[in-house]
Amino acid sequence: MSKEGNRTEEALTSGAQELRLVVETIPALVWKAGPDGNFEYVNKRVLEYLGAPLGEIIGWGWMERVHPDDVAFKVRTWLKNLESGNPHDAACRIRGADGRYRWFEVRGEPLRASDGAVLDWYGVLIDIDDRRKTEDALRESEHKLRQIIDTAQGLIWSTGPQGEPTYVAQLQAMLNVLPAYTWYAAPSGVLTFVNKRTADYLGVPKDHPLRFGIGIGAQWDDWVPLLHPDDQEESRKYWSTCLRTGEAAEHSYRVRSAQGDYRWFLTRAEPFRASDGTLLLWIGATLDIEELKCAEQALRESEGKFRDYAETASDWFWEIGPDYRFTLLTENAFGSDPASRIGRAFWDYALDLETEPKKWRVVQATLDARRPFRDFAYRSVRGDGAPMYVKASGKPVFDANGGFRGYRGTGADVTAAMRAQEEHERLRQLESDIAHMNRLSVMGELAASLAHEITQPIGSARNNARAALNFLDKQPPDLGEIREALGGVVGDADRAGDIIDRIRAHIKKTAPRKDRIDLNEAITEVIGLGQSAIIKNGVSVQTRLMEGLAPVEGDRVQLQQVVLNLILNAVEAMTAVDESVRELSISSAQSRANGSILVAVRDSGPGIEPERRERVFDAFYTTKSSGVGMGLSICRSIIDAHGGRLWVEANAPRGAVFQFTLPSVEMEPASSPRENRGVS
Ligand code: ADP
Repeated sequence: MSKEGNRTEEALTSGAQELRLVVETIPALVWKAGPDGNFEYVNKRVLEYLGAPLGEIIGWGWMERVHPDDVAFKVRTWLKNLESGNPHDAACRIRGADGRYRWFEVRGEPLRASDGAVLDWYGVLIDIDDRRKTEDALRESEHKLRQIIDTAQGLIWSTGPQGEPTYVAQLQAMLNVLPAYTWYAAPSGVLTFVNKRTADYLGVPKDHPLRFGIGIGAQWDDWVPLLHPDDQEESRKYWSTCLRTGEAAEHSYRVRSAQGDYRWFLTRAEPFRASDGTLLLWIGATLDIEELKCAEQALRESEGKFRDYAETASDWFWEIGPDYRFTLLTENAFGSDPASRIGRAFWDYALDLETEPKKWRVVQATLDARRPFRDFAYRSVRGDGAPMYVKASGKPVFDANGGFRGYRGTGADVTAAMRAQEEHERLRQLESDIAHMNRLSVMGELAASLAHEITQPIGSARNNARAALNFLDKQPPDLGEIREALGGVVGDADRAGDIIDRIRAHIKKTAPRKDRIDLNEAITEVIGLGQSAIIKNGVSVQTRLMEGLAPVEGDRVQLQQVVLNLILNAVEAMTAVDESVRELSISSAQSRANGSILVAVRDSGPGIEPERRERVFDAFYTTKSSGVGMGLSICRSIIDAHGGRLWVEANAPRGAVFQFTLPSVEMEPASSPRENRGVS
């Protein structure tokens, strides 16, 4: 197998391992089954709950763990889903390691091949036991209340208006043995009786009238102080509404226990009427819903947590409907004003739709195929209209029946990163441009080797000419030989011409470009390029660039080549002096007199003696063992071509200063120099 293949394999394996790890650590019960419904895998958490090895569960082994009352239903639904390929969703009781059953909602989704065939089933088990029990308890309590009322109704029918003590005593006896919190109140609303369980919870003393169904001298809202202060107002309203309408109603509130702590309760009051409709009593059953409330609270907290994450994340969240139009955007989306994008598609705001149609066609195809996408980068506009780069990822959303509901995902502002990358690209381009320019100095070497080649045809031409002269001297002159020798001369001359053409082709001068250039910016960039040489040689750099310098016209890369050459020459020259005095200064200024711009590169190197100052600009003049001597000559021709002048002077107190002028586009400088010291 190729190296490439190996790597792909490795990546795949490590991807699969990572996935397996995620599935094992995820705080959920996960399973996988084959297309035939045979269970193939459950994660560690499932095995922990069941307290069984995988071998006992796979295939159809799990059936043994399902409650006998639920097994038939469960298997029937599973087989039906296997046949139809619809998502599986069925609740059943499953026996855990402790031998007890808990209610689970079993959900499964088919994974399909591109031809629609089911490849595998993936699913989760959701523990709904607490929810189920609370629901059951609610149902049961309502059922009991019905029973109480039905029974009490019977009791009342069997006694006359004077026979109250009999049925009241019986009613109280019955309510007292009920494993539920119950109470009744007079038609006026006064609470007259609470059952034993309620009295014990509230800490009502044994001899209190409430325990015997006599609310002597009591007020309709006497029980209100037993409630949590925050719930008192609402509870008063609830009870007075009941009294006014005479209809059954539910309400939840926190009640203080004998120990002084509060628990949540749900109470349901039912009017109990005589056959002629007269209201006789209010009978109530109250359910402890503390755990349910806690679960709700936990859910709300975790929702709140997610909302906090969403609101504080620098990324934003979005949702689009089946028509790909935004249905939701978090507050921070697109910098500002996300609301205005609701109902619009994200390409309504794209700036690169026309310049990069291929990219957008791929996106459209991905969405139409309902495939997830990751890190799709495009150009858009911010809420305030400024252009921005956006990176978006999303995945399709399906409802329980497999219907497509749209996409949801995240978006991020990656403008800064993209700009940095563009700048990086630009610098690389610049570097390669300058490298290309540098090849011109290779021309020196080329010229030397070509000069060598030229001496050969010249020598040969000389020999041929001399031979022709000799043949002329003969009596009579040998015209045939002369013709042949002169033919040789022409051939030699042609060969020399070819060689020269080759040089010309190599250094063929193209007309310099005419861009408007901010010279300060160009210089700063070049200093950056020379930075490694500057640092390596322990040179300290000082720049004095005049602010508001008028732009110059010309070829930016060529002018940068000049400055870079001057800087590198200066750095090289200073290697001859002590490191403590290696100072490089680069300045720009604009003349008030004629508007021309002056750039100076000063060094503290050995300098150049007056008699050599013009020679350094000659082609092939060099004092370096590996030098070519073309740098300054090319610099001068570039500056000349730009209508400027390049020369060298002595720097004070030591070193050389290379300066060049360039005509500027505008006459007046805008302001004074800006100083900048940096030690490298
Ligand atoms: P090269 O660098 O290949 O020698 P250049 O044309 O750039 O070619 O420079 C020609 C010569 O000018 C150098 O060999 C050096 O002797 C001299 N020279 C250039 N810059 C400086 C400087 N800043 N200080 C002293 N001498 C310099």
